Amino acid sequence: MNASAQKNKTVLSAVVYAKWLEAHLTECGGWTTIGELKRACRQRFERQWGKRDLEQMPKRNQQRWQNMLDWGKVLLRLPDGKKACFTRHSKRFDGGGVVILIGVKTDDKGKEIQDWVLKKTPRTPCFAKRCPECGRWYNLNRKQCECSHVFEVIPKRR
Ligand SMILES: [Zn+2]
Repeated sequence: MNASAQKNKTVLSAVVYAKWLEAHLTECGGWTTIGELKRACRQRFERQWGKRDLEQMPKRNQQRWQNMLDWGKVLLRLPDGKKACFTRHSKRFDGGGVVILIGVKTDDKGKEIQDWVLKKTPRTPCFAKRCPECGRWYNLNRKQCECSHVFEVIPKRR
C-alpha cells in the first residue's frame, strides 16, 4: 500500500489515544481543560489523520478522532480495573470543561479540580463499554460488536 492510500484510510485506534492521553495528562499534573486537550491532540496527531479520522460521526456532533479520543479515555484504568479518566462539563473552563486522570502525581490545584470532578462522578467500577462506530453498549469482555467493529484490548496500566 502506498503512503497516500494509507493516509486516506487511516483511523488511529483508541489505544493510540489512550497511551497519549495517559502521558499527556500525567505531564499536565492530572488535569487539563477540554479545549487544551483537543488542541494538544490535534497538534500531536493532525499529520497522521486521514479522511476517515476527520469524517463527521453519524448522529454525533463530532469528528471520528474526537470520538476515538473519548474512547481512549474509557480505556484508561487503574490497576484494580476502575476508570481513571473523567470529564466534567462547565462553562468556567476553556472548551467547556475539564478532563482528569487520577492515580498520577498532582499538586494542590490539581487535587482540588480532581475532587470537584469526582464529586459529580462517583468513582464506581464501569463494566460497560461502547462501540465507537455505532454507539451500542456492551460488557467489557465483549470482543466484537454486532456492527462488526472489533474492540481494542484494554491496555493494562502499571
Ligand atoms: Zn458497533
